[in-house]
Amino acid sequence: MRYKFIDEAQISISSGKGGAGCVSFRREKFIPRGGPDGGDGGRGGDVIAVVDPGLGTLLDFRYQRRHFAENGRPGEGRQCTGRDGETMVIRVPCGTVIYNDETGELLADLADHGDSVTLAGGGRGGKGNEHFKSSTQRTPSFAQPGEPGEEFELRLELKLLADVGLVGMPSVGKSSLIARISAAKPKIADYPFTTLSPNLGVVRFGVAEHYVVADVPGLIPGASEGAGLGDRFLRHIERVSHIAHLVSCTAGDDEQSPIDDFIAIERELCAYDPRLAELPRVLVLNKTDLPDVRQWQERLEVFAAERDLKFFPISAATGEGITELVNHLGERVQKNLAN
Ligand code: GDP
Ligand code: MG
Repeated sequence: MRYKFIDEAQISISSGKGGAGCVSFRREKFIPRGGPDGGDGGRGGDVIAVVDPGLGTLLDFRYQRRHFAENGRPGEGRQCTGRDGETMVIRVPCGTVIYNDETGELLADLADHGDSVTLAGGGRGGKGNEHFKSSTQRTPSFAQPGEPGEEFELRLELKLLADVGLVGMPSVGKSSLIARISAAKPKIADYPFTTLSPNLGVVRFGVAEHYVVADVPGLIPGASEGAGLGDRFLRHIERVSHIAHLVSCTAGDDEQSPIDDFIAIERELCAYDPRLAELPRVLVLNKTDLPDVRQWQERLEVFAAERDLKFFPISAATGEGITELVNHLGERVQKNLAN
């Protein structure tokens, strides 16, 4: 089975053609039959991929699929070499793996900041006719054409790293919240990732910003002593810089206190991963559309203030309070990435 926390994109690239060499002869006063002086064509531009630490997903490749480098300019008379084509730089997030989509060949694994790779080399420029002068051929009326560029279909893969971890008792609405904040954005409705995994979502906020939210699964009392989740999952949350702790309660269940739940889950979190326990967090009361939940709002507000937590009453069902939460988390994540 393909691992589900993978973000991927298909793109096509082509490097630039080399510019043609030029056929030209010197024409100057007092030099009636000048020799050949056609310059070389410029080199076509390469297509290279570089790691951009500011990127977190392959989302942009959904909108921009074709990437061309510029062709080299043809050579000109008077031994003028044509200008080289500009390199096309494709910016990818750290951790992007690049395959040739037709052959399946692994081309690059851009694991670190500063990594880069040439994916398609630009065509060499053709030689101008000045190169073809010889004792037998004084006026060569031909030049070399430029070499063609290269074209490839590529597949990019990225292991997504979550920025925000969602924790809370079962059924408080973690999956519902992820569904609401990631898939509900019409702009990314066609982004298959958001539907691939109910545990992870790419959240858009502001004009062009995004972050990744992951459900930290299996956090029930006693979970940390259990078999654990495997490091595959843990790797995806290694970048988590904020925690959103969701609480709620069931209608008619007076016994269940969201405050007790919060304390129990926090204890579990400390045992599960001390690093997660240290992270800044917000307290979220979900299902405020239900009167039984709503009646906890004031008490939780006081509780959150005592613990110096930011508090967000929301309803994943109606959308109430969601924008404030999404923007708050986005701003915090951004600040963290900038540092
Ligand atoms: P999870 O176990 O934390 O992932 O919780 P789910 O997202 O699966 O939600 C558990 C149940 O609560 C589902 O039946 C949801 O439809 C319901 N639910 C989630 N959010 C809300 C909400 O804001 N209001 C109401 N009334 N029900 C909700
Ligand atoms: Mg769930």
